[in-house]
Amino acid sequence: MLLREKGSKPIAIPRKEIDRWIYTTCGYCSTGCGIEVGVKDGRAVSVRGTADHPVNRGKLCLKGIHEFEAINARDRAGHPMIRDGADGPLRRASWDEALARTAGEFKRIQERYGRDALAVVSTGQIYTEEFYTLGKLVRGGLGTNNYDGNTTLCMASAVSGYKRSFGSDGPPGCYDDFDRTECLIAFGSNLSECHPVLYYRLKTALERRRFPVIVVDPRVTMLAQLADIHLPIRPGTDVVLLNALANVILAEGMEDQAFALAHTTGFEDFARTVSRFTPEYAEGITGIPAGRIREVARIYGRAGAAMAIWTMGINQSTHGSDGVAAINNLALITGNVGKPGGSSLSITGQCNAMGTREFSSASGLPGYRQLENPAHRSEIARFWGVDETFFPEKRGLAMTDIFPAVERGEIKGMWVIATNPMTSMPDTDRVREILGKLEFLVVQDVYFPGETAALAHVFLPAAMWAEKTGTFTNTERRVGLVRKAVEPPGEAKSDLDIFAALARAMGLGRLFPGEWTAEKAFDEIREVSRGRLCDYSGITYEELAARGGIQWPSPSGSHGTPRLYADGLFQHADGKARLIPLEFVDDNERPDESYPFLLNTGRVIEHWHTRTKTGRIGNLDKFSPVLYVEMNGRDAARLGIEAMETVRLISRRGEAEAVCLPTERVGPGSVFTPFHFAWGANKLSLGLLDPHSRQPAFKQCAVRIEKTR
Ligand code: SF4
Repeated sequence: MLLREKGSKPIAIPRKEIDRWIYTTCGYCSTGCGIEVGVKDGRAVSVRGTADHPVNRGKLCLKGIHEFEAINARDRAGHPMIRDGADGPLRRASWDEALARTAGEFKRIQERYGRDALAVVSTGQIYTEEFYTLGKLVRGGLGTNNYDGNTTLCMASAVSGYKRSFGSDGPPGCYDDFDRTECLIAFGSNLSECHPVLYYRLKTALERRRFPVIVVDPRVTMLAQLADIHLPIRPGTDVVLLNALANVILAEGMEDQAFALAHTTGFEDFARTVSRFTPEYAEGITGIPAGRIREVARIYGRAGAAMAIWTMGINQSTHGSDGVAAINNLALITGNVGKPGGSSLSITGQCNAMGTREFSSASGLPGYRQLENPAHRSEIARFWGVDETFFPEKRGLAMTDIFPAVERGEIKGMWVIATNPMTSMPDTDRVREILGKLEFLVVQDVYFPGETAALAHVFLPAAMWAEKTGTFTNTERRVGLVRKAVEPPGEAKSDLDIFAALARAMGLGRLFPGEWTAEKAFDEIREVSRGRLCDYSGITYEELAARGGIQWPSPSGSHGTPRLYADGLFQHADGKARLIPLEFVDDNERPDESYPFLLNTGRVIEHWHTRTKTGRIGNLDKFSPVLYVEMNGRDAARLGIEAMETVRLISRRGEAEAVCLPTERVGPGSVFTPFHFAWGANKLSLGLLDPHSRQPAFKQCAVRIEKTR
């Protein structure tokens, strides 16, 4: 039921003639807003927020409001393309020709160099039914173990940290916790720009009932300006701060002993480790005064229910997985897991980053099953009708390790689906060289050209959001329905149809018998997830539309579950969560005489990731058309740089030009630039990898700034 906010003013949509409104879920971020597409004469001409939706209550952010324009944007790809020879131009081709060439090259590469010489690099953008289909094709048919997605660039550390602490991926909390918590602490989360409707949910909760908000971020973001306490932490030192908070909580007896004893293991080792992280010691590393650390620990530790959220400030680090485990440690020692208002909630990035984690088989097998578990391999082999010895016994390379393997000559072919590594990967000049070494590159995407698509030997045009039916899962595990509102352009096909067609072209059609549809894939998902943590067996498309989504686990007869682990039973074999002792490892590139500034990167409200969509949308691109760099005003004055002057950012990897914005949002010695632009941040970034998650540390590298004249 809609909770209409007192005095809220719904956004006025200009009157347009609409034939019908089609209910869907937003295709940008993982907030999972309910959104309806207005269709006139078969064309998407408007959108509106779904008034009674449990996530967004009618609200949309700037990207959502303009989402229909992404469908109608210029450069929608409407037909397959093929490159004749290695260097010829891409020319129009039929689907039969493009699929035959792709199937032929995949077979040639795998026969000549081995199954793993083909890599598949996927996304967080397509529907869960499509992820499931792709996983079935890759794990059950192609058999390459070098299969991953771009979620390794944003969410891998959250996944890894959850698995280490709780025994499984899956965010335990939900948005309702904003309305019930007594303390919110946000780590490296620019909620107001990256997840604006969650920011609105938080602000609404605060208007109803004031509770302390603490923001840990090196930059004074809009969320930091809302906070009661802002901790401008030195980048890369979060584990030290988190250990120090735990130190104070234990030293002052604020822990929930009963919960920790009943539901965790490792308490003694953990307590011994954090005893060394006194607030005074942490002050020297994090730059946060010891008194402030004690104050924050007391607010969090004494709250009846406390909530921690985080985004890329934690994940995109060489110790992102440890940062997540440290947040989970804090929640576990205070009993803030599985209770209203008490949670450790990773705010997810892409609209369906969760769906790929659940059912794409990229890091394992569907339904949070692991390749390393013989029982899991045999369950899925039986279900798919394949020989279980066909499955590898452990996970292959992550996306960030696939590219170096191409460089070493171990991988010869790559299938890139709805992602743009030429902008999103660190050190993009090197990525271009690596892609140039491939014998065969196929790119499947919704627009052409794109930075990566331009390098393809075969390009496959895909239908986009609202041109096909399926589901997304959002941050709070809510499965949302996305209905087809309009036809895709030209000959573009849904990703699901492309996967099934390619399977047939490769002689693997047995995996997808009859006419393979989203409904069929969803039926298999329901069946294969029965009894698993991410249980979909009680979910139907009809209920998804009626309820504005359902939070898994949702076994038959249930209407979903708002919080995981409410019964105190975790997913490790003994049912207990792990308290993990964590040391501080300072292994990032640090500023020096030649490169004296620490570069931090992030998002702006107008753009989505690599601008593949938003760079084509008039108003969004007009609001944020250029690369800029925020620099502390005192540093700018010292270097003689004026506001709006173009400067050159130079790292050991490359250089980029940006407009300089002198500001107090960043401290002296630090600079910030958005990561969306192909000619920007990732030409500079180093991207050292987290040892557990293989996620790159996009946010910490050393640069120098020069005037261009
Ligand atoms: Fe879409 Fe995210 Fe904006 Fe909601 S907050 S409208 S899901 S981009």
